[in-house]
Amino acid sequence: MSNYSDNNLLQLIIPDNPTNNKLFGTQKYCGEDFPLRGDNVHEMSLMGGVFEVIDQTLSSHNVKRVLKVKIKVGELTNAEPDALAMAFEAYSKDTVCEGAELVVERVPLRGFCKNCRREFNVKTMCFLCPDCQSTSIEITQGEELLLESLEVE
Ligand SMILES: [Zn+2]
Repeated sequence: MSNYSDNNLLQLIIPDNPTNNKLFGTQKYCGEDFPLRGDNVHEMSLMGGVFEVIDQTLSSHNVKRVLKVKIKVGELTNAEPDALAMAFEAYSKDTVCEGAELVVERVPLRGFCKNCRREFNVKTMCFLCPDCQSTSIEITQGEELLLESLEVE
């Protein structure tokens, strides 16, 4: 067929809600408690969370096949693209997601200084406001692993 139509394509945008953001636990400051990576265990568990949200999302839609899965991955998750891709393949096997394209958007780590109220990129793993040197900061982005959207038919 030459006139291929993609009218059946549907993009499901996943809302940024508490369920979607439970994928990654909270972080401690100053490096010591950051997730240590070993094998692909870390990515597998992250991806397990993604698939929970995918299942929830698809349960209210009649979907034959998922073509594209977009996720947002915060820098602080330390998730490696290759390991994520492998975990995705493992989880999607024999599901409607099998063969889907995984699109990973990296989210840089940002912090908010509670003292001088500036937002900044966190450059080292020791959290310090670059302007006033306060350590009273809050991570504003970079620790998420969010399912952003699904393209389905
Ligand atoms: Zn500051």
